[in-house]
Amino acid sequence: MLRENQAMQNLPPYLFARIEQKIAEAKEKGVDIINLGIGDPDLPTPKYIIDKMAEAIYDSANHQYPSSVGLLEYRKAVAEWYKKRHGVDLDPKTEIVSLIGSKEGIAHISFAYLDKDDINLVPDPGYPVYNIGTILAGGKSYFMPLKEENGFLPVLEDIPSDIARKAKLMFINYPNNPTGAVASLDFFEKVVEFAKSFDILVCHDAAYSEIAFDGIKPPSFLEAKGAKDVGIEFNSLSKPFNMTGWRIGWAAGNREAIEVLGRFKSNIDSGVFQAVQYAAVEALKEPEDHLNQLRKVYQERRDAVLEGLNKIGLKANPPKGSFYFWVPVPDGFTSASFAEMILEKAGVIVTPGNGYGEYGEGYFRIALTVSKERICEAFERIEKAVGKVEF
Ligand SMILES: *Cc1c(COP(=O)(O)O)cnc(C)c1O
Repeated sequence: MLRENQAMQNLPPYLFARIEQKIAEAKEKGVDIINLGIGDPDLPTPKYIIDKMAEAIYDSANHQYPSSVGLLEYRKAVAEWYKKRHGVDLDPKTEIVSLIGSKEGIAHISFAYLDKDDINLVPDPGYPVYNIGTILAGGKSYFMPLKEENGFLPVLEDIPSDIARKAKLMFINYPNNPTGAVASLDFFEKVVEFAKSFDILVCHDAAYSEIAFDGIKPPSFLEAKGAKDVGIEFNSLSKPFNMTGWRIGWAAGNREAIEVLGRFKSNIDSGVFQAVQYAAVEALKEPEDHLNQLRKVYQERRDAVLEGLNKIGLKANPPKGSFYFWVPVPDGFTSASFAEMILEKAGVIVTPGNGYGEYGEGYFRIALTVSKERICEAFERIEKAVGKVEF
């Protein structure tokens, strides 16, 4: 009999299976569902990017295998973007590698660095790929709790030093999915010191760096003093340019780690379709008009959620960045029981927080990826179905 390997067997159970079953059942019954669970922008890719793609797709030079580390022109565009946006200098030839979406690189970095049973430091709650990549590569995750009282930042002093000594990689992610927290440069500098003293490669996931509220400009990890000595940053066109389906991202920073990741990838994939890379170059050139508009839309939706939560008697701190609202469930509920109740009574989907880790229990996540009108409708329905008193 064929049997999947140990790493596959070690993958954590898929905690969204039950809610997905409930969604399928509700859909079958013809319920009009408002899905506030989707981490995927609803708005289209801006036209100036599509136009560039349309042009590039007719050039037969783009029909062949791309280089697995990315067109130099693409890596130069990323370097220029870093300089303008973050004041960070990067050598496009040696300090940047293209990725088939940042998820790809986040999953693969563990394969390039872990030996069996090596440890990665992984945030909890967190984007599941950090832990899953670790497990698939044969390693083990040590979970760093992200608690509200600490601004959803890991407390580095709480990591036992025997664990820290054994750790190979540390994943961090700000603006944070799912909590909406933003980290300061000061925090990143502490991470650099920690990584230096324990010889750890920091992997900062900056997928939401361009999506923040109230005028906040989230810093890059690479702005921290000495960051390039110890870390790399993952970013992607997916969220800022509504390009999740296009599959293009990058890793940038520490030269050795970029070389290792590029060499790993050159053995298993053949890079990003060049037409997509040219479209990404166009996207990164003058992004601010589009991004200002996008932030405005998300901020309006965030404010609508805040108002809706007030209306049903739930309290939550609004996110500083990302497009998620992280909300404590009312007393008497678990993450799962609350999500199920809202789905059954109001036809509204939220994501139960325990799907992001043990420390996500007691929260649910609302994604700002539906229109303001639908957000308002969702809260009206919840209010009508459950009212305020039950909470
Ligand atoms: C969406 C997301 C990504 C990026 O995905 P791509 O593979 O670049 O589309 C990375 N990290 C987090 C935390 C995300 O939510």
